[in-house]
Amino acid sequence: THYATLTDKDVSFFERLLSSGRTITNPDECLPFNIDYIKSCQGQSQLVLRPKTVDEVQAILRYCNEHQLAVCPQSGNTGLSGGSVPVFDEIILSLRLLNSIGNFDENSGVLTTDAGCVLEKLDTHVRQFGHIMPIDLGAKGSCLIGGNVATNAGGLRVVRFGSLRSAVLGLEVVLPDGSLLDCLTSIRKDNTGIDLKQPFIGSEGILGIVTRVALACPSLMSGVGLGFFACSSFEQILSTMRLARKICGETLSAIEFLDESTYNLSLKYLQRTNKPIESNKFYILIETMSSTDEQAKATLEKLATTALEKEFITDGTLAQDLTQYKDIWAIRERVSDALVADGYVFKYDFSLPTSRMYKLVEETEERMKQFSNVGNVTGFGHLGDQNLHLNVTVKDGYSDDIKQALEPWLYEWVAKEHGSVSAEHGLGLHKSKYLELNKGKHSLELMKQMKNMFDPKCILNPYKVLPYKTD
Ligand SMILES: Cc1cc2nc3c(=O)[nH]c(=O)nc-3n(C[C@H](O)[C@H](O)[C@H](O)COP(=O)(O)OP(=O)(O)OC[C@H]3O[C@@H](n4cnc5c(N)ncnc54)[C@H](O)[C@@H]3O)c2cc1C
Repeated sequence: THYATLTDKDVSFFERLLSSGRTITNPDECLPFNIDYIKSCQGQSQLVLRPKTVDEVQAILRYCNEHQLAVCPQSGNTGLSGGSVPVFDEIILSLRLLNSIGNFDENSGVLTTDAGCVLEKLDTHVRQFGHIMPIDLGAKGSCLIGGNVATNAGGLRVVRFGSLRSAVLGLEVVLPDGSLLDCLTSIRKDNTGIDLKQPFIGSEGILGIVTRVALACPSLMSGVGLGFFACSSFEQILSTMRLARKICGETLSAIEFLDESTYNLSLKYLQRTNKPIESNKFYILIETMSSTDEQAKATLEKLATTALEKEFITDGTLAQDLTQYKDIWAIRERVSDALVADGYVFKYDFSLPTSRMYKLVEETEERMKQFSNVGNVTGFGHLGDQNLHLNVTVKDGYSDDIKQALEPWLYEWVAKEHGSVSAEHGLGLHKSKYLELNKGKHSLELMKQMKNMFDPKCILNPYKVLPYKTD
């Protein structure tokens, strides 16, 4: 596809459409929108548009479609696959100002809101009504709910609340030609034909712009418990997880793990000199939620005692108050920042059979031994969801040799195990070429047909998700 080059006439059109500084052309001001969170890629967009209304989003896309101008949708720009920044000079459509919190229905627990609202703000809002957002993740203070839906983000509580997709009851989407697809129902049951909102969840902005969302919000549980335990092997981590499932049962709300190097990096980043528990090779974090504090804490205490007796864990701590609860969670939630501080990051996000998860980290470690500039090889992630985050940090910046030693070897390893090459972060720019390896030719062909149906001129988020030839 050949795109038009942005002209002064185009810029004037957008300036007329969007009042008061919502058309950004100053290169310094465009820069932060051009660079992704982990600084893995940088575009050269000369234009950032910041619509406040859905009508404005429609007018922008209608114009871009007519004039063959490529567009990169962007929400909080916390995506980890290079999907949220332009590859070349695509116009950046920033959705941050589309941010009025809509209605919360106290009878159904359904929130209907603009897509540009920050996840954490929405969570604070629904807590007033005794509910929480169905998703929680380390980037909650910056990511926007539209970005979460567009990536079908996973996060920390999938074990309890399921995937975000299952909580999305309705969507409003602006299609690439500027028309509006209204699937914004807030009812829980609706078996009427093909569910048209589904393709927009998790397709990372290649089919349409999510402008409004209706979400089922779980009830707020007043009882919360958190345990953090050390184990000497990955086998013991798995034994502890199985025990937690048995003992904590329906109160379980998170099962996360970190290996030694991840844990040390996080503590260093947080500047913590006092370690919360005695060190070991692995750490597991178990959270429980219940309608009573007694129950949430009692199941965790029983877990801790039994796991110690059985020698699954070597040390552990249970959060006694909110400060300790936040301090322990910070060790897990700040890992992404700690990795960025450690150097250039090769970042992978795989689904794998649980028993094979750490084998891949060990083999990667072995493979990286030949490179003296590798900082750390780390494994951590959403253990309860079979989701491994594997990261390799490089001390002196990006290295092509290291990349070639990692890819496609890692992706082929995961495909052989029938895992997923992208558990939750999405394919974005970095992983699009491995889609076929994971899904096969036929699925890829159908995906291309869907893209062509919704976006025949291919103006939305080009070069992302589906494999493209860019030469
Ligand atoms: C510290 C940290 C922790 C994280 N933890 C997790 C985690 O636990 N689980 C997880 O899944 N992810 C995690 N992420 C990744 C990231 O936060 C999620 O992918 C998040 O959902 C992205 O939201 P965003 O608003 O930043 O979207 P962006 O990064 O701006 O965009 C993400 C993608 O969606 C597209 N897009 C954005 N908005 C729209 C829209 N309104 N309509 C259509 N397309 C759109 C973009 O083009 C891009 O392809 C983490 C990131 C960080 C930095």
